[in-house]
Amino acid sequence: MKRRDVVKYLSIAPVAGAVAGSAAPLEAVAAIPAATAKRDLIKELGLRTFINAYGVYTTHTASLMSDEVLDAINGSSKKFVLYNDLQDKVGEKIAAMCHAEAAMVTSGCWSAIVLGTAGVLTGMDRKKVALLPDVSSFEKNEVIVQRSHMGSYDHTLTNTGIKRVVVETADELEKAISPKTAMTWFYNEAAPWGKIGHEEWLAIAKKHNIPTMVDIAADVPPVENLWKFNDMGYDLVCVSGGKAIRGPQSAGILMGRKHLIAAARLSAPPGGNNIGRGMKVNKEEILGMYAALERFINLDHGKEWKMWEDRAAIIANAVNKVRGAKAEIFVPPHANVTPTLRINWDQSLIKLTSRDMTANLRDGEPSIEAPKYVENALIISVWMMQPGEEKIVARRLTEELNKASV
Ligand SMILES: *Cc1c(COP(=O)(O)O)cnc(C)c1O
Repeated sequence: MKRRDVVKYLSIAPVAGAVAGSAAPLEAVAAIPAATAKRDLIKELGLRTFINAYGVYTTHTASLMSDEVLDAINGSSKKFVLYNDLQDKVGEKIAAMCHAEAAMVTSGCWSAIVLGTAGVLTGMDRKKVALLPDVSSFEKNEVIVQRSHMGSYDHTLTNTGIKRVVVETADELEKAISPKTAMTWFYNEAAPWGKIGHEEWLAIAKKHNIPTMVDIAADVPPVENLWKFNDMGYDLVCVSGGKAIRGPQSAGILMGRKHLIAAARLSAPPGGNNIGRGMKVNKEEILGMYAALERFINLDHGKEWKMWEDRAAIIANAVNKVRGAKAEIFVPPHANVTPTLRINWDQSLIKLTSRDMTANLRDGEPSIEAPKYVENALIISVWMMQPGEEKIVARRLTEELNKASV
């Protein structure tokens, strides 16, 4: 802002003017709303808020940060530190908590995958760092993936310029390995659909001395998954910070071998002239991520689980009282592993499509976001609800089911 603009700004900003200028008459100050009054920006902007029965998805702004995270953000926001010092210190703490040699905070799991792959490709060679995503001159510029692991998140890999080499069987994996192979990538959520499991995948890669990366973005709980894959021997492990861990939505963790994390950091801020310059995660988020992880690891996970089960039971009991409706509680085997409800209804008794049901829940009071499942069923995820919201969801579901009953 130019000085002239600052003066103009102050003259039209009564609150700032009154606080900054001691010349303001007392009556004028008294007439101005307290400068400390908290603004409710969501309300001011007229944004719709809702009960999150969907789960931890980016569209729904994922999870709510815990108080510990907000304290970390607020408590660190008034001082400067060096960005690299911060990544060093926080990285050390995270690595120790997760049985890794080293770690760094990234802007989400997505960039953890990009930066980790970049680190594998470049090592500590800054010329190579500057060349990415042009890897045509690199001796190693291929990453091997299983066909069933593709489609959702492997775009992260091609962002670095590499070519994906697709395999289905262990035999194909052996044959695909060549002097061009930089890394192999495993997508944990897809483990049940792949022909090659973790142990075999790792054993083959290790035999050929090829670094391996695993994407476990949404795969805590169980909390043990934070160290399980490091213990198993993966060289790089990528996790989301803003899902179950309830850190900043824009944060994530890359952890693994020390030399690979050091290399990955060359492609990330604060350096420029690299592919990761736009993947900045700020000081407060880095500390927020650390606080979130510490809190998550120390949580009483048995108690959390029981709380989710109780919520699911309240909803199931209410729904099961409606003639023709049925609620079952299940636990997804991988990713978002929490007690979840599948609610079905007999369409000859309840004239309602799942599309109308989700629309009515969204348009109701309070608004509820829940995913459709099939034509006459929906899924209700309870773990992102605030305490007590399960009762509201139970009431709204039964209201809609009863209204549509013939
Ligand atoms: C959510 C997710 C990502 C992306 O993670 P962000 O933290 O949103 O960047 C990557 N992979 C999988 C499997 C995910 O579920």
